[in-house]
Amino acid sequence: MTDLTRLTAAETAERIKSGEVTAVEVTEAHLARINAVDEKVNAFLHVDRQGALEAARAVDAKRAAGEKLGPLAGVPLALKDIFTTEGVPTTVGSKILEGWIPPYDATLTKRLKAADVVILGKTNMDEFAMGSSTENSAYGPTGNPWDVTRIPGGSGGGSAAALASFQAPLAIGTDTGGSIRQPAAVTATVGVKPTYGAVSRYGMVAFSSSLDQGGPCARTVLDAALLHEVIAGHDPLDSTSIDAPVPPVVEAARSGDVRGMRVGVVREFSGEGYQAGVMQRFEESVELLRELGAEVVELSCPSFTKALAAYYLIAPSECSSNLARFDAMRYGLRVGDDGTHSAEEVTALTREAGFGDEVKRRIMLGTYALSSGYYDAYYGSAQKVRTLISRDFERAFGEVDVIVSPTTPTTAFPIGERADDPMAMYLADLCTIPSNLAGNSAMSLPCGLAPEDGLPVGLQIIAPAMADERLYRVGSAVEAALQARWGHPLLEEAPSL
Ligand code: GLN
Repeated sequence: MTDLTRLTAAETAERIKSGEVTAVEVTEAHLARINAVDEKVNAFLHVDRQGALEAARAVDAKRAAGEKLGPLAGVPLALKDIFTTEGVPTTVGSKILEGWIPPYDATLTKRLKAADVVILGKTNMDEFAMGSSTENSAYGPTGNPWDVTRIPGGSGGGSAAALASFQAPLAIGTDTGGSIRQPAAVTATVGVKPTYGAVSRYGMVAFSSSLDQGGPCARTVLDAALLHEVIAGHDPLDSTSIDAPVPPVVEAARSGDVRGMRVGVVREFSGEGYQAGVMQRFEESVELLRELGAEVVELSCPSFTKALAAYYLIAPSECSSNLARFDAMRYGLRVGDDGTHSAEEVTALTREAGFGDEVKRRIMLGTYALSSGYYDAYYGSAQKVRTLISRDFERAFGEVDVIVSPTTPTTAFPIGERADDPMAMYLADLCTIPSNLAGNSAMSLPCGLAPEDGLPVGLQIIAPAMADERLYRVGSAVEAALQARWGHPLLEEAPSL
Protein backbone atom coordinates (compact mmCIF):
# COMPACT_ATOMS: atom_id res chain seq x y z
CA MET A 1 0.00 0.00 0.00
CA THR A 2 1.24 3.53 -0.74
CA ASP A 3 2.55 5.50 2.17
CA LEU A 4 -0.01 8.31 2.33
CA THR A 5 2.53 10.69 3.86
CA ARG A 6 4.69 10.55 0.71
CA LEU A 7 2.03 11.84 -1.69
CA THR A 8 1.87 15.41 -2.92
CA ALA A 9 -1.08 17.54 -1.84
CA ALA A 10 -2.47 17.44 -5.40
CA GLU A 11 -2.33 13.62 -5.46
CA THR A 12 -3.85 13.39 -1.99
CA ALA A 13 -6.75 15.65 -2.91
CA GLU A 14 -7.33 13.62 -6.09
CA ARG A 15 -7.42 10.31 -4.21
CA ILE A 16 -9.82 11.67 -1.62
CA LYS A 17 -12.07 13.09 -4.31
CA SER A 18 -12.14 9.83 -6.23
CA GLY A 19 -12.86 7.84 -3.06
CA GLU A 20 -9.65 5.83 -3.24
CA VAL A 21 -8.83 6.92 0.32
CA THR A 22 -10.75 8.78 3.00
CA ALA A 23 -9.70 12.05 4.54
CA VAL A 24 -9.67 10.29 7.92
CA GLU A 25 -7.16 7.71 6.64
CA VAL A 26 -4.93 10.46 5.31
CA THR A 27 -5.12 12.41 8.57
CA GLU A 28 -4.45 9.31 10.68
CA ALA A 29 -1.39 8.48 8.58
CA HIS A 30 0.03 11.94 9.21
CA LEU A 31 -0.79 11.89 12.92
CA ALA A 32 1.04 8.54 13.15
CA ARG A 33 4.02 10.02 11.34
CA ILE A 34 4.06 12.96 13.77
CA ASN A 35 4.01 10.46 16.66
CA ALA A 36 6.90 8.55 15.14
CA VAL A 37 9.29 11.38 14.27
CA ASP A 38 8.41 14.68 15.88
CA GLU A 39 10.15 13.93 19.13
CA LYS A 40 13.38 14.22 17.13
CA VAL A 41 12.35 17.10 14.88
CA ASN A 42 10.22 19.30 17.20
CA ALA A 43 8.31 20.80 14.27
CA PHE A 44 5.02 21.09 16.17
CA LEU A 45 4.29 23.15 19.25
CA HIS A 46 0.75 21.85 19.40
CA VAL A 47 -0.89 18.94 17.60
CA ASP A 48 -4.67 19.24 17.38
CA ARG A 49 -5.51 15.56 16.92
CA GLN A 50 -9.17 15.91 17.76
CA GLY A 51 -9.72 19.00 15.61
CA ALA A 52 -7.89 17.43 12.67
CA LEU A 53 -9.88 14.20 12.81
CA GLU A 54 -13.15 16.12 13.13
CA ALA A 55 -12.28 18.21 10.07
CA ALA A 56 -11.36 15.04 8.14
CA ARG A 57 -14.62 13.34 9.11
CA ALA A 58 -16.51 16.40 7.91
CA VAL A 59 -14.79 16.14 4.50
CA ASP A 60 -15.68 12.45 4.22
CA ALA A 61 -19.29 13.22 5.16
CA LYS A 62 -19.46 15.99 2.57
CA ARG A 63 -18.17 13.66 -0.10
CA ALA A 64 -20.62 10.92 0.90
CA ALA A 65 -23.45 13.44 0.63
CA GLY A 66 -22.31 14.38 -2.87
CA GLU A 67 -21.42 17.95 -1.89
CA LYS A 68 -18.75 19.84 -3.82
CA LEU A 69 -15.27 19.56 -2.32
CA GLY A 70 -12.59 22.27 -2.44
CA PRO A 71 -9.39 21.72 -4.47
CA LEU A 72 -7.47 20.73 -1.32
CA ALA A 73 -10.28 19.02 0.61
CA GLY A 74 -8.94 16.62 3.22
CA VAL A 75 -5.29 17.56 2.71
CA PRO A 76 -3.41 17.97 6.01
CA LEU A 77 -1.55 21.19 6.76
CA ALA A 78 0.89 22.44 9.40
CA LEU A 79 0.12 26.01 10.46
CA LYS A 80 2.80 28.38 11.73
CA ASP A 81 1.98 29.34 15.30
CA ILE A 82 1.68 33.01 14.41
CA PHE A 83 -1.88 32.74 13.04
CA THR A 84 -4.74 32.78 15.51
CA THR A 85 -6.86 29.66 15.71
CA GLU A 86 -10.12 29.78 17.62
CA GLY A 87 -9.95 27.48 20.65
CA VAL A 88 -6.44 26.25 19.79
CA PRO A 89 -3.33 27.72 21.52
CA THR A 90 -1.30 30.36 19.65
CA THR A 91 2.06 31.22 21.20
CA VAL A 92 4.16 32.86 18.42
CA GLY A 93 7.00 30.80 19.92
CA SER A 94 6.94 33.07 22.99
CA LYS A 95 6.43 32.56 26.71
CA ILE A 96 4.47 35.78 26.79
CA LEU A 97 1.52 34.10 25.06
CA GLU A 98 1.85 30.74 26.80
CA GLY A 99 -1.58 29.40 27.63
CA TRP A 100 -3.43 31.96 25.50
CA ILE A 101 -6.37 30.53 23.59
CA PRO A 102 -7.47 32.93 20.85
CA PRO A 103 -11.19 33.67 20.68
CA TYR A 104 -11.12 34.01 16.90
CA ASP A 105 -9.64 32.63 13.68
CA ALA A 106 -7.25 34.63 11.50
CA THR A 107 -8.64 35.28 8.01
CA LEU A 108 -6.08 32.79 6.68
CA THR A 109 -7.24 30.14 9.17
CA LYS A 110 -10.84 30.78 8.10
CA ARG A 111 -9.94 30.39 4.44
CA LEU A 112 -8.15 27.11 5.07
CA LYS A 113 -11.16 25.76 6.93
CA ALA A 114 -13.56 26.98 4.24
CA ALA A 115 -11.45 25.11 1.66
CA ASP A 116 -11.78 21.89 3.75
CA VAL A 117 -8.03 21.76 4.47
CA VAL A 118 -7.28 19.70 7.61
CA ILE A 119 -5.16 21.68 10.10
CA LEU A 120 -2.95 19.22 11.99
CA GLY A 121 -1.52 21.70 14.47
CA LYS A 122 0.72 24.70 15.06
CA THR A 123 4.39 24.77 14.15
CA ASN A 124 7.49 25.93 15.97
CA MET A 125 9.08 29.27 15.09
CA ASP A 126 11.54 31.86 16.29
CA GLU A 127 9.84 33.98 18.94
CA PHE A 128 7.66 36.58 17.18
CA ALA A 129 9.24 35.44 13.89
CA MET A 130 12.54 37.08 14.78
CA GLY A 131 15.36 34.85 13.63
CA SER A 132 16.78 32.68 10.87
CA SER A 133 17.20 29.36 12.65
CA THR A 134 14.20 28.63 14.95
CA GLU A 135 16.68 28.64 17.84
CA ASN A 136 14.95 31.70 19.29
CA SER A 137 11.78 29.73 20.06
CA ALA A 138 10.95 29.70 23.77
CA TYR A 139 10.01 26.04 23.27
CA GLY A 140 13.35 24.68 22.06
CA PRO A 141 14.88 24.51 18.59
CA THR A 142 13.57 22.51 15.63
CA GLY A 143 15.94 20.10 13.89
CA ASN A 144 16.52 19.98 10.14
CA PRO A 145 15.23 16.60 8.87
CA TRP A 146 18.35 16.36 6.66
CA ASP A 147 20.48 16.43 9.81
CA VAL A 148 18.74 17.12 13.10
CA THR A 149 21.85 18.71 14.59
CA ARG A 150 21.48 21.52 12.03
CA ILE A 151 19.02 24.40 11.84
CA PRO A 152 15.89 24.11 9.64
CA GLY A 153 16.02 27.82 8.92
CA GLY A 154 13.82 30.41 10.51
CA SER A 155 11.68 31.88 11.60
CA GLY A 156 9.40 29.26 10.05
CA GLY A 157 11.62 26.26 10.73
CA GLY A 158 8.77 24.19 12.15
CA SER A 159 6.68 24.47 9.00
CA ALA A 160 9.58 23.62 6.67
CA ALA A 161 10.75 20.74 8.87
CA ALA A 162 7.21 19.32 9.00
CA LEU A 163 7.21 19.17 5.18
CA ALA A 164 10.72 17.76 4.85
CA SER A 165 10.01 15.02 7.41
CA PHE A 166 6.72 14.08 5.71
CA GLN A 167 4.61 15.10 8.71
CA ALA A 168 2.42 17.25 6.43
CA PRO A 169 2.26 17.84 2.66
CA LEU A 170 1.35 21.51 3.11
CA ALA A 171 2.33 24.23 5.55
CA ILE A 172 1.94 27.95 6.11
CA GLY A 173 4.75 30.35 6.81
CA THR A 174 5.23 34.09 7.15
CA ASP A 175 8.00 36.10 5.60
CA THR A 176 9.15 39.45 6.97
CA GLY A 177 12.72 39.19 5.75
CA GLY A 178 12.95 35.63 4.46
CA SER A 179 11.22 33.35 6.96
CA ILE A 180 9.36 31.37 4.31
CA ARG A 181 12.13 31.21 1.71
CA GLN A 182 15.19 30.64 3.89
CA PRO A 183 13.71 27.58 5.70
CA ALA A 184 12.52 26.26 2.31
CA ALA A 185 16.06 26.57 0.93
CA VAL A 186 17.78 24.69 3.73
CA THR A 187 15.21 21.86 3.87
CA ALA A 188 14.75 21.28 0.09
CA THR A 189 11.13 22.42 0.12
CA VAL A 190 9.20 25.10 -1.77
CA GLY A 191 8.23 28.38 -0.12
CA VAL A 192 6.58 31.46 -1.56
CA LYS A 193 6.37 35.00 -0.25
CA PRO A 194 3.44 36.39 -2.21
CA THR A 195 3.23 40.07 -3.12
CA TYR A 196 2.86 42.21 0.01
CA GLY A 197 -0.86 42.60 0.70
CA ALA A 198 -1.89 39.48 -1.24
CA VAL A 199 -2.57 37.34 1.83
CA SER A 200 -4.49 38.87 4.73
CA ARG A 201 -2.58 39.79 7.89
CA TYR A 202 -5.76 39.82 9.98
CA GLY A 203 -5.13 37.49 12.92
CA MET A 204 -1.46 37.10 12.06
CA VAL A 205 0.52 38.30 15.08
CA ALA A 206 2.37 41.43 13.94
CA PHE A 207 6.15 41.69 13.87
CA SER A 208 6.88 44.38 11.25
CA SER A 209 3.60 45.30 9.62
CA SER A 210 4.98 46.90 6.46
CA LEU A 211 7.02 43.77 5.70
CA ASP A 212 5.07 40.78 7.13
CA GLN A 213 3.46 38.48 4.60
CA GLY A 214 1.91 35.02 4.98
CA GLY A 215 2.41 32.47 2.25
CA PRO A 216 2.34 28.84 1.12
CA CYS A 217 4.95 26.14 1.85
CA ALA A 218 4.91 22.73 0.18
CA ARG A 219 7.08 20.02 -1.35
CA THR A 220 6.22 20.85 -4.97
CA VAL A 221 5.62 24.03 -6.93
CA LEU A 222 2.11 22.93 -7.95
CA ASP A 223 1.15 22.20 -4.33
CA ALA A 224 2.35 25.66 -3.33
CA ALA A 225 0.23 27.18 -6.12
CA LEU A 226 -2.88 25.27 -5.04
CA LEU A 227 -2.41 26.53 -1.48
CA HIS A 228 -1.60 30.06 -2.68
CA GLU A 229 -4.95 30.21 -4.44
CA VAL A 230 -6.78 29.15 -1.27
CA ILE A 231 -5.17 31.72 1.06
CA ALA A 232 -4.79 34.78 -1.18
CA GLY A 233 -7.42 37.40 -1.96
CA HIS A 234 -8.86 40.64 -0.70
CA ASP A 235 -9.82 40.99 2.95
CA PRO A 236 -11.63 44.12 4.17
CA LEU A 237 -10.33 43.37 7.70
CA ASP A 238 -6.76 44.12 6.60
CA SER A 239 -6.25 47.74 5.51
CA THR A 240 -3.20 46.83 3.39
CA SER A 241 -4.92 43.94 1.61
CA ILE A 242 -4.85 44.24 -2.19
CA ASP A 243 -8.27 44.47 -3.81
CA ALA A 244 -7.47 42.75 -7.10
CA PRO A 245 -7.88 39.26 -8.56
CA VAL A 246 -5.35 36.64 -7.41
CA PRO A 247 -2.75 36.08 -10.18
CA PRO A 248 -3.27 32.79 -12.12
CA VAL A 249 -0.72 30.84 -10.11
CA VAL A 250 -2.11 27.33 -10.61
CA GLU A 251 -2.35 27.73 -14.36
CA ALA A 252 1.25 28.99 -14.42
CA ALA A 253 2.47 26.08 -12.27
CA ARG A 254 0.83 23.63 -14.66
CA SER A 255 2.37 25.33 -17.70
CA GLY A 256 6.04 25.75 -16.77
CA ASP A 257 6.94 27.19 -20.16
CA VAL A 258 9.84 29.66 -19.91
CA ARG A 259 10.65 30.02 -23.61
CA GLY A 260 11.37 33.65 -24.41
CA MET A 261 11.31 34.75 -20.77
CA ARG A 262 14.03 37.15 -19.67
CA VAL A 263 15.77 36.05 -16.48
CA GLY A 264 17.97 38.50 -14.56
CA VAL A 265 21.06 37.58 -12.56
CA VAL A 266 21.97 40.37 -10.13
CA ARG A 267 25.68 40.89 -9.53
CA GLU A 268 25.15 41.96 -5.90
CA PHE A 269 23.75 38.49 -5.03
CA SER A 270 27.21 36.86 -5.15
CA GLY A 271 30.72 37.30 -3.84
CA GLU A 272 32.21 37.06 -0.38
CA GLY A 273 30.24 34.96 2.08
CA TYR A 274 28.60 32.75 -0.55
CA GLN A 275 29.43 29.05 -0.18
CA ALA A 276 31.09 27.54 -3.28
CA GLY A 277 28.61 24.65 -3.58
CA VAL A 278 25.66 27.03 -3.30
CA MET A 279 27.02 29.13 -6.17
CA GLN A 280 27.72 26.00 -8.21
CA ARG A 281 24.13 24.73 -7.94
CA PHE A 282 22.81 28.22 -8.60
CA GLU A 283 24.89 28.62 -11.75
CA GLU A 284 23.73 25.21 -12.97
CA SER A 285 20.11 26.35 -12.56
CA VAL A 286 20.79 29.47 -14.59
CA GLU A 287 22.33 27.30 -17.30
CA LEU A 288 19.28 25.06 -17.16
CA LEU A 289 16.96 28.03 -17.67
CA ARG A 290 19.01 29.00 -20.71
CA GLU A 291 18.65 25.46 -22.09
CA LEU A 292 14.89 25.67 -21.51
CA GLY A 293 14.70 28.70 -23.77
CA ALA A 294 15.01 31.64 -21.37
CA GLU A 295 17.27 34.59 -22.08
CA VAL A 296 19.70 35.33 -19.24
CA VAL A 297 20.57 38.97 -18.57
CA GLU A 298 23.18 40.24 -16.12
CA LEU A 299 22.15 43.19 -13.97
CA SER A 300 23.38 45.38 -11.17
CA CYS A 301 21.22 46.61 -8.26
CA PRO A 302 23.70 48.66 -6.21
CA SER A 303 21.34 49.51 -3.35
CA PHE A 304 20.86 45.82 -2.46
CA THR A 305 24.13 45.95 -0.51
CA LYS A 306 22.38 48.29 1.96
CA ALA A 307 19.21 46.19 2.32
CA LEU A 308 20.28 44.32 5.44
CA ALA A 309 21.20 47.53 7.28
CA ALA A 310 17.90 49.19 6.33
CA TYR A 311 15.90 46.11 7.31
CA TYR A 312 17.52 45.91 10.74
CA LEU A 313 16.34 49.45 11.45
CA ILE A 314 12.86 49.23 9.95
CA ALA A 315 11.89 45.80 11.32
CA PRO A 316 12.99 46.51 14.94
CA SER A 317 11.34 49.96 14.79
CA GLU A 318 8.01 48.50 13.77
CA CYS A 319 8.38 45.62 16.24
CA SER A 320 9.03 47.99 19.15
CA SER A 321 5.70 49.61 18.42
CA ASN A 322 3.78 46.38 17.64
CA LEU A 323 4.96 44.54 20.75
CA ALA A 324 3.88 47.34 23.09
CA ARG A 325 0.51 45.58 23.26
CA PHE A 326 2.02 42.77 25.36
CA ASP A 327 1.55 44.66 28.60
CA ALA A 328 0.34 41.80 30.86
CA MET A 329 -3.16 43.28 30.91
CA ARG A 330 -4.60 41.92 27.67
CA TYR A 331 -3.35 38.42 26.96
CA GLY A 332 -1.17 35.57 28.13
CA LEU A 333 1.42 35.73 30.85
CA ARG A 334 1.14 38.00 33.93
CA VAL A 335 3.99 38.14 36.44
CA GLY A 336 4.04 39.91 39.84
CA ASP A 337 0.28 40.42 40.15
CA ASP A 338 0.33 39.70 43.90
CA GLY A 339 -0.83 43.03 45.29
CA THR A 340 2.68 44.27 46.04
CA HIS A 341 3.44 45.72 42.61
CA SER A 342 2.04 48.63 40.63
CA ALA A 343 0.51 48.05 37.19
CA GLU A 344 3.69 49.41 35.57
CA GLU A 345 5.81 47.01 37.59
CA VAL A 346 3.62 44.07 36.58
CA THR A 347 4.04 45.08 32.92
CA ALA A 348 7.82 45.34 33.32
CA LEU A 349 8.13 42.04 35.22
CA THR A 350 5.97 40.26 32.66
CA ARG A 351 7.93 41.58 29.69
CA GLU A 352 11.18 40.72 31.43
CA ALA A 353 10.05 37.12 32.00
CA GLY A 354 8.00 36.69 28.84
CA PHE A 355 10.31 37.95 26.07
CA GLY A 356 13.54 36.24 25.01
CA ASP A 357 16.88 37.94 24.34
CA GLU A 358 16.42 38.53 20.59
CA VAL A 359 12.99 40.10 21.06
CA LYS A 360 14.34 42.38 23.80
CA ARG A 361 17.33 43.31 21.63
CA ARG A 362 15.00 44.36 18.81
CA ILE A 363 12.61 46.30 21.04
CA MET A 364 15.58 48.25 22.40
CA LEU A 365 17.08 48.85 18.95
CA GLY A 366 13.74 49.95 17.54
CA THR A 367 12.87 52.20 20.46
CA TYR A 368 16.27 53.87 20.10
CA ALA A 369 15.94 54.29 16.33
CA LEU A 370 12.53 55.90 16.72
CA SER A 371 13.45 58.20 19.59
CA SER A 372 13.40 61.94 19.00
CA GLY A 373 16.69 63.24 17.72
CA TYR A 374 17.58 59.89 16.11
CA TYR A 375 14.48 59.30 14.01
CA ASP A 376 15.76 61.03 10.87
CA ALA A 377 19.27 59.66 11.17
CA TYR A 378 18.19 56.04 11.51
CA TYR A 379 14.58 55.30 10.62
CA GLY A 380 14.39 58.12 8.06
CA SER A 381 17.61 57.02 6.32
CA ALA A 382 16.47 53.41 6.27
CA GLN A 383 13.23 54.44 4.58
CA LYS A 384 15.23 56.28 1.92
CA VAL A 385 17.27 53.15 1.26
CA ARG A 386 14.01 51.26 0.97
CA THR A 387 12.94 53.61 -1.82
CA LEU A 388 16.26 53.11 -3.61
CA ILE A 389 15.79 49.35 -3.44
CA SER A 390 12.30 49.62 -4.94
CA ARG A 391 13.73 51.75 -7.74
CA ASP A 392 16.51 49.24 -8.43
CA PHE A 393 13.85 46.56 -8.76
CA GLU A 394 11.72 48.77 -11.02
CA ARG A 395 14.69 49.38 -13.29
CA ALA A 396 15.56 45.69 -13.32
CA PHE A 397 12.00 44.62 -14.11
CA GLY A 398 12.08 47.01 -17.05
CA GLU A 399 14.69 44.68 -18.53
CA VAL A 400 13.74 41.22 -17.23
CA ASP A 401 10.62 39.23 -16.29
CA VAL A 402 12.11 37.60 -13.19
CA ILE A 403 15.32 37.77 -11.18
CA VAL A 404 17.04 34.62 -9.89
CA SER A 405 19.61 34.21 -7.10
CA PRO A 406 20.65 31.73 -4.46
CA THR A 407 18.04 31.90 -1.66
CA THR A 408 20.67 31.76 1.08
CA PRO A 409 24.43 32.30 0.97
CA THR A 410 25.11 29.00 2.78
CA THR A 411 23.49 25.65 3.51
CA ALA A 412 22.05 24.77 6.95
CA PHE A 413 24.52 25.57 9.72
CA PRO A 414 24.85 23.58 12.96
CA ILE A 415 22.48 24.44 15.81
CA GLY A 416 24.36 26.76 18.18
CA GLU A 417 26.94 27.95 15.65
CA ARG A 418 25.50 31.45 15.23
CA ALA A 419 23.35 31.59 18.36
CA ASP A 420 25.63 34.09 20.12
CA ASP A 421 26.44 36.11 17.02
CA PRO A 422 23.40 38.08 15.84
CA MET A 423 25.32 39.64 12.95
CA ALA A 424 26.27 36.22 11.52
CA MET A 425 22.65 35.11 11.94
CA TYR A 426 21.34 38.19 10.12
CA LEU A 427 23.47 37.32 7.06
CA ALA A 428 21.26 34.29 6.36
CA ASP A 429 18.70 36.69 4.87
CA LEU A 430 21.04 38.61 2.61
CA CYS A 431 19.24 37.56 -0.59
CA THR A 432 15.67 37.50 0.69
CA ILE A 433 15.34 40.89 2.42
CA PRO A 434 15.29 43.18 -0.68
CA SER A 435 11.95 41.65 -1.79
CA ASN A 436 10.31 42.36 1.56
CA LEU A 437 11.51 45.97 1.47
CA ALA A 438 10.11 46.39 -2.06
CA GLY A 439 6.94 44.34 -1.44
CA ASN A 440 7.31 42.17 -4.53
CA SER A 441 6.86 38.37 -4.79
CA ALA A 442 9.49 35.66 -4.44
CA MET A 443 9.86 31.88 -4.26
CA SER A 444 12.52 29.43 -3.11
CA LEU A 445 12.69 25.94 -4.56
CA PRO A 446 15.24 23.12 -4.27
CA CYS A 447 18.03 23.13 -6.86
CA GLY A 448 20.28 20.34 -5.59
CA LEU A 449 22.70 19.48 -2.83
CA ALA A 450 25.95 21.34 -2.18
CA PRO A 451 28.79 18.98 -3.12
CA GLU A 452 30.90 19.85 -0.07
CA ASP A 453 28.31 18.97 2.60
CA GLY A 454 25.45 17.16 0.83
CA LEU A 455 22.92 19.68 2.15
CA PRO A 456 20.07 21.33 0.19
CA VAL A 457 20.51 24.52 -1.82
CA GLY A 458 17.61 26.83 -2.72
CA LEU A 459 17.05 28.78 -5.90
CA GLN A 460 15.28 32.09 -5.38
CA ILE A 461 13.01 33.53 -8.08
CA ILE A 462 11.76 37.12 -7.71
CA ALA A 463 8.90 38.67 -9.71
CA PRO A 464 7.25 42.11 -9.66
CA ALA A 465 4.32 42.81 -7.34
CA MET A 466 1.14 41.04 -8.48
CA ALA A 467 3.06 39.02 -11.07
CA ASP A 468 3.36 36.05 -8.70
CA GLU A 469 2.36 33.69 -11.53
CA ARG A 470 5.81 34.18 -13.06
CA LEU A 471 7.38 32.54 -9.99
CA TYR A 472 5.29 29.46 -10.57
CA ARG A 473 5.94 29.33 -14.29
CA VAL A 474 9.72 29.50 -13.84
CA GLY A 475 9.67 27.37 -10.67
CA SER A 476 7.79 24.49 -12.23
CA ALA A 477 10.05 24.56 -15.31
CA VAL A 478 13.16 24.28 -13.13
CA GLU A 479 11.57 21.66 -10.89
CA ALA A 480 10.57 19.44 -13.81
CA ALA A 481 13.93 19.74 -15.56
CA LEU A 482 15.88 18.96 -12.39
CA GLN A 483 13.67 15.98 -11.57
CA ALA A 484 14.17 14.65 -15.07
CA ARG A 485 17.92 15.00 -14.58
CA TRP A 486 17.92 13.30 -11.17
CA GLY A 487 15.14 10.83 -11.93
CA HIS A 488 13.30 11.74 -8.71
CA PRO A 489 12.23 14.74 -6.63
CA LEU A 490 15.08 15.96 -4.43
CA LEU A 491 13.19 15.41 -1.21
CA GLU A 492 12.82 11.68 -1.80
CA GLU A 493 16.54 11.46 -1.10
CA ALA A 494 16.40 13.11 2.32
CA PRO A 495 17.95 10.89 4.96
CA SER A 496 15.06 9.22 6.76
CA LEU A 497 14.63 9.91 10.42
N1 GLN B 1 15.55 36.50 9.81
C1 GLN B 1 14.88 37.74 9.67
C2 GLN B 1 14.69 38.37 11.02
O1 GLN B 1 15.19 37.83 11.93
C3 GLN B 1 13.55 37.55 8.98
C4 GLN B 1 12.53 36.93 9.83
C5 GLN B 1 11.21 36.79 9.15
O2 GLN B 1 11.11 36.81 7.93
N2 GLN B 1 10.17 36.68 9.97
O3 GLN B 1 14.06 39.35 11.18
